[in-house]
Amino acid sequence: MKTNSLLMVLPACLFFLNLLTSPQAHGGRVDLVVDHGVEKDAEAQARAAVNGVFDFFQKTYGIGLQRDIRIKFSCDKLNYKKAIQDWYGASEGQASQVAHNTAGLQRRGDLIVNLGDINNDYKQLFVLCHEMVHFYQGQESQDKHGAIGWMVEGSADALAAHILETVGVKNASGYKKWWIENLKKARGLPSLEDLHTHRGLMSACYTYGGRVTYTTSALAVMTLVEWRGYPALFAYFQALKNSSPDDAFYRAFGAKATDFEKQFRPF
Ligand SMILES: [Zn+2]
Repeated sequence: MKTNSLLMVLPACLFFLNLLTSPQAHGGRVDLVVDHGVEKDAEAQARAAVNGVFDFFQKTYGIGLQRDIRIKFSCDKLNYKKAIQDWYGASEGQASQVAHNTAGLQRRGDLIVNLGDINNDYKQLFVLCHEMVHFYQGQESQDKHGAIGWMVEGSADALAAHILETVGVKNASGYKKWWIENLKKARGLPSLEDLHTHRGLMSACYTYGGRVTYTTSALAVMTLVEWRGYPALFAYFQALKNSSPDDAFYRAFGAKATDFEKQFRPF
C-alpha cells in the first residue's frame, strides 16, 4: 500500500486541532458509510478530513452541524455509480454519466465521494472538503446557494484549499500561485459573467475545461476573501436565506455582483 508521507501528517494535525478547539455542538447527525473496498489509510485520512472541516466551520464561522449529514466513501467507479442511483434515485444512464465526470457529489445532506478512483490522496481530500463546503452552503442558505454559479463552486474550491492548508497539508499553501500558472497556460478563459448561472458554468466547463472554469471561480472568491476576509463568504450564503442574490452579495462584500464580475481578472 503506497502512503504519501505528507499526508500522514494530516491525521496528527487534525488530532491536535481537535484538542485545541472546544467541543462542538452537533445539532445534526453524522452517518458515515464506507465501502468494503476502501483502503484503511484512505478511510482514516478521509475521516480526519471530515472532522477537520467540522472544526474549521465551527472555529471560523461559529457554524455547527444543524442538519443531518450522510457521507458515503465509495471504493471505485462502479460502486460510486451504484450509490448515485441508490441515494439520489438517478437512473442507471444518468448515474453512469455523473460517475464518469465527477469524483464527488453533495445533495441536501447526502454526500458521496469516490475515494477509490482518485489515485492521488491529496486530491481525494480536496474533493471531500469541496463537497463538504457545499453541504454547509446548503445548510446555511436553506438550499438557496445555487444563485451565482461561480460563487458556489469557487468558494468550495477556495475553502477546500484553505482548509487543507490550515490542517497542515504542505502542498496546499501554494494553491493560488499554482492555479494562476495553470490559467496562464490555458487557451482561453471564461469571464465571470459567463459563469454567473449554473448553466453558464456547466457550459464553460465544456468549452474551456472543468479545471479552468473552477479555478477562475476560485480565484474570484479568493479576491473577495482578500478584500473582506473569510467571514464574509458565509455571510453571503447566510444572507441568501432571505435576500436576493444581488442583495446578499452587496451585504457581504460591499460591491455589486455585476460590477465585480465585469472587473475581475484572475491575473
Ligand atoms: Zn462543486
